[in-house]
Amino acid sequence: MDGKFGFTVQARDGQARQGVISTPRGEIRTPAFMPVGTAATVKAMMPESVRATGADILLGNTYHLMLRPTAERIAALGGLHRFMNWDRPILTDSGGFQVMSLASLRKLTEEGVRFSSHIDGSKHMLTPERSMEIQRLLGSDIVMCFDECPALPATDAVVAASMQLSMRWAQRSRDAFGDRPGHALFGIMQGGVNRDLREESAAALTGIGFDGYAVGGLAVGEGQEAMFGVLDYAPGFLPEDRPRYLMGVGKPDDIVGAVERGIDMMDCVLPSRSGRTGQGWTRGGQVNLRNARHKDDPRPLDAECACPACRSYSRSYLHHVIKADEIIGSMLLTWHNLQYYQDLMDGLRGAVAAGRLAEFVAGFHAGRAAGDIEPV
Ligand SMILES: [Zn+2]
Repeated sequence: MDGKFGFTVQARDGQARQGVISTPRGEIRTPAFMPVGTAATVKAMMPESVRATGADILLGNTYHLMLRPTAERIAALGGLHRFMNWDRPILTDSGGFQVMSLASLRKLTEEGVRFSSHIDGSKHMLTPERSMEIQRLLGSDIVMCFDECPALPATDAVVAASMQLSMRWAQRSRDAFGDRPGHALFGIMQGGVNRDLREESAAALTGIGFDGYAVGGLAVGEGQEAMFGVLDYAPGFLPEDRPRYLMGVGKPDDIVGAVERGIDMMDCVLPSRSGRTGQGWTRGGQVNLRNARHKDDPRPLDAECACPACRSYSRSYLHHVIKADEIIGSMLLTWHNLQYYQDLMDGLRGAVAAGRLAEFVAGFHAGRAAGDIEPV
């Protein structure tokens, strides 16, 4: 593949930015929302359907893929893009967050994390070097540094020690990643909700030098107010000319608030996971399709949405297939939710480009305040 990794900011409105990340596998319009393809699939979606919603990039999970089907098997079969039939950019996480949240018998040392698989109990070791190797075997376009993230709330001493370990691992990740034209390595800022620690972490990362920077350690139970509190200053510690990625976020109003504060990339399982439980995200807020009020409703879930669920099916049908646990219920609602998220990103990008973000955000909140349409 020819081409380099690059990032261009095309417009600004307040702290918000609109731009484009270029990679050899195609462009990523920012602010970007990345659907999560945990185990080499965005659950209930074909890759071409994910693309049809407007997604430019997917996220894959190192922890899941290293255990099953294994990075070595995926590499032997031509890499993750070919394996899952997605030829556009893929970002992989480092495995650090999930090993701490999913694996059992974890032992954290300076070297890395030793753990047992949550699938079969087999023993594994993740280190910065092994994480870089796995992400290279997968063929990831954007590779994340291996880091450690304490659950919040935690004392400043715990957060500081964890952050400093993550910064030593960031240097080891940088060294192990090496020089791979067309592939990017992102550093991850830690430091919890402590401004001084966030600044210290950003300085350590920019001293090492990365292609992009993530704000890590948020969306781990601190609440939106605390998260926005950190995002009021943390993006400003990072280089202007590199993409800023907020990991694991979030709900639509989290996304809007993060974009207002200068975030360029986000990912979350929420639209796909909630689709599988009968939750639809719309311009009027969250709609529970399991609710009996939809039983006789011939109208679409969201009249303004162009997705197949809204174009060709009624709320009554969606209610029926979800209540009956039919697979198409998960398929249609996941598609709708991913479409809603991508439409939201498109709206945000257009608003920043036009210098009318405040107006767009006011409309977003007004729509949600008005709530769902009245029952039939
Ligand atoms: Zn829809």
